[in-house]
Amino acid sequence: MNNNAIYLDNAATTQLDPRVLEAMLPYFTTYFGNASSSHFDGKRAAEAVQVGRKQVANLIGSENPSEEIVFTSGATEANNLALKGVFKAYVGVGNHIITAVTEHQSVLATCSQLKKQGAHITYLSVKPDGLINPESLKAALTPQTILVSIMHVNNETGVIQPISKLSELVKEAYPNVLFHTDATQSAGKIPINVQKDGIHLLSFSAHKLYGPKGCGALYVRSKEPRVSLLPQIVGGGHENNRRSGTLNVPGIVGFGKACELAKGNMTDESKCLTALRNRLECGLLGQTHGSSVNGCSTERAPHISNMAFLENKSGNLFSNLYGKIAVSAASACSTHRAEPSHVLKSMGLSTEIMRSSLRFSLGRFTTEAEIDATIERILQKLPLLSTYKKP
Ligand SMILES: *Cc1c(COP(=O)(O)O)cnc(C)c1O
Repeated sequence: MNNNAIYLDNAATTQLDPRVLEAMLPYFTTYFGNASSSHFDGKRAAEAVQVGRKQVANLIGSENPSEEIVFTSGATEANNLALKGVFKAYVGVGNHIITAVTEHQSVLATCSQLKKQGAHITYLSVKPDGLINPESLKAALTPQTILVSIMHVNNETGVIQPISKLSELVKEAYPNVLFHTDATQSAGKIPINVQKDGIHLLSFSAHKLYGPKGCGALYVRSKEPRVSLLPQIVGGGHENNRRSGTLNVPGIVGFGKACELAKGNMTDESKCLTALRNRLECGLLGQTHGSSVNGCSTERAPHISNMAFLENKSGNLFSNLYGKIAVSAASACSTHRAEPSHVLKSMGLSTEIMRSSLRFSLGRFTTEAEIDATIERILQKLPLLSTYKKP
């Protein structure tokens, strides 16, 4: 990163925690073995993978790591595997999948691919606060429904869907319908437990929680019920035949360490991030004209704030911050397109609000001084409330 820049784009990716790097390094050099090899070097790698698998499972409450954690290249692949793998294994039972309009592109694009292969997809809309109406989920369920996929924390707004309530509702109406959640923005930030929250499949990714890029996991429930999955990458039969390919040993070691750290610090870190986010929002909203927070202000993860600055006409503010403060105009995955964010749009926000919105996402290494410098810089560019005159 640019040395003078302030990094407030932790929803796009996080800096590797130095403790994670330290845990990974020996697995690039001394212990470089292939975890599938039967000789000593292979065993050493396999043991490290086993430790990582337990740490990863432990963060989300999986009690059977060896059967339930499938390592992937990240959450995009985990989402693809969850949706395609379930659709292809259960298509004899039904072809209906329910998801939401605010999902990550990796879920939406997978759904549109599945649609061409005969899936019937229902996209639930959201209320202006970004939350799904549970009644609409209930109404969408049919005897043909095989899977519901609803993300836990939205990557653009930080809005938290009531996953446990939604999975409960599905279970009551149709006990055989599977529930998948993309927990990439919530795992390690707020509590999530596959047992307590009634989750059958869960995707997450190391690089969103201070681990390395290129490593993620799909949790697949092994009992009550045992979830079937058709593999999407075949070969040597790794990961219980669900995802072939030589395991990314250093990545898995780092992912495990990152999960362990996140679990140990979650309460304190969450308090700290909430305080910093509130400082940022109060500093900006209280002093500028036409500024507001997008999305539900209460049901929200601590690290994301999506704010609209109505005086930021045509995104000038964004270009002013460019090179000084790393923020996102929409989500990083969709900034190469000129269209407004599909998430903000689905919340019914006006074009002006969408154009003037910025996503700030804070992280473990964000400091109070950085927040203050960010506020100061933005206030220089916007008309202050104290001096604002109606045009
Ligand atoms: C980042 C992100 C993904 C994609 O994760 P990768 O590991 O980068 O593939 C999926 N879903 C959400 C909500 C994300 O924030």
